Amino acid sequence: MAEISVGKEILSQCNKCKLILAHIIVTMKDATTPDKVMCKTCKGTHGFKDPGATKKKTSIDRVIKSAKSASGKKVSESVAELWTKALNRTTSKARSYNMKDSFALGDIIDHPTFGQGVVERLIDNNKIEVIFQDDYRTLLHKK
Ligand SMILES: [Zn+2]
Repeated sequence: MAEISVGKEILSQCNKCKLILAHIIVTMKDATTPDKVMCKTCKGTHGFKDPGATKKKTSIDRVIKSAKSASGKKVSESVAELWTKALNRTTSKARSYNMKDSFALGDIIDHPTFGQGVVERLIDNNKIEVIFQDDYRTLLHKK
């Protein structure tokens, strides 16, 4: 591996040029890692971005993203959106969850484990469906 030090040239991704270009090392993070580099093209100084690492990271991000949508993470994202909308729609005051209490549609429940939820559906006399930030849950009430 070529020696690198302040004043030496190194390839880095340039934020401004959006290209992998020759940069001059301005400061070093440690013996082998440049900290700040100056772009020889636009003369801008910025943090060193290893062009190889940048590429790798992007492809990993892409893999994570597709894995997320495949494993249903995308669904919980939209649950979060629905949850936010449900909270904005209702004018009820949040109440602590207690299965002895009676809850109605649109009521906000403060659940000790799941956080704030909104009653979305009355399943039967003793069950309600509540939307929480991460998922729908069935809770008991009027017990
Ligand atoms: Zn540049």
